[in-house]
Amino acid sequence: MNKIFSNDGSSVLAYIGLGSNLQNPAQQIQNAQKAFNNLDGVRYLKCSSLYRSSPMGPQDQPDYINAVIAISTILEPLTLLSHLQAIEQQQGRVRQSQRWTARTLDLDLLLYSDQIINLPELIVPHRGISERDFVLYPLQEIAPNLLIPGKGKIADLIKHCPSYGLERISA
Ligand code: ATP
Ligand code: CA
Ligand code: CA
Repeated sequence: MNKIFSNDGSSVLAYIGLGSNLQNPAQQIQNAQKAFNNLDGVRYLKCSSLYRSSPMGPQDQPDYINAVIAISTILEPLTLLSHLQAIEQQQGRVRQSQRWTARTLDLDLLLYSDQIINLPELIVPHRGISERDFVLYPLQEIAPNLLIPGKGKIADLIKHCPSYGLERISA
């Protein structure tokens, strides 16, 4: 692996975006938090409130419940990604050929320390991070002073990202 994309064994801070719109979404988010708690090499730090958002892409699907969690991890980015995908699988994610269809659980690696990663299977900061209200608002809630590598301060990104019906539903 390219050394730039690895870590030296010390912990780094990472942020994960969670989304669900099938099979009791709030419970799916809670189950994912538990899965992070049980993951070797990951320390669960905190979770934002839950937010309700309208679906992106195909509109004939239920609203989403979203949240962002902060973790501290010694896992390298690609290893972390494979764990995220394993948790999605464990919670019944079925991948469709069409983008942005309904799912039990989506886990996106939003930020990994201050690294910029451009691999075929992993782009960090997550593409779309600066345009998605359901990512920026919960992220700002748990990291109000965050600087997003290559994109700027979260407070400035939010100024240009109106929340289209995003609803905070629990603290
Ligand atoms: P979007 O990525 O626009 O939010 P999505 O979450 O529905 O859409 P998925 O089907 O979950 O997309 O993922 C498609 C691919 O995106 C995955 O196979 C993964 O390799 C890749 N990917 C690239 N960067 C990331 C990232 N930062 N976090 C998670 N997956 C990523
Ligand atoms: Ca996603
Ligand atoms: Ca995803």
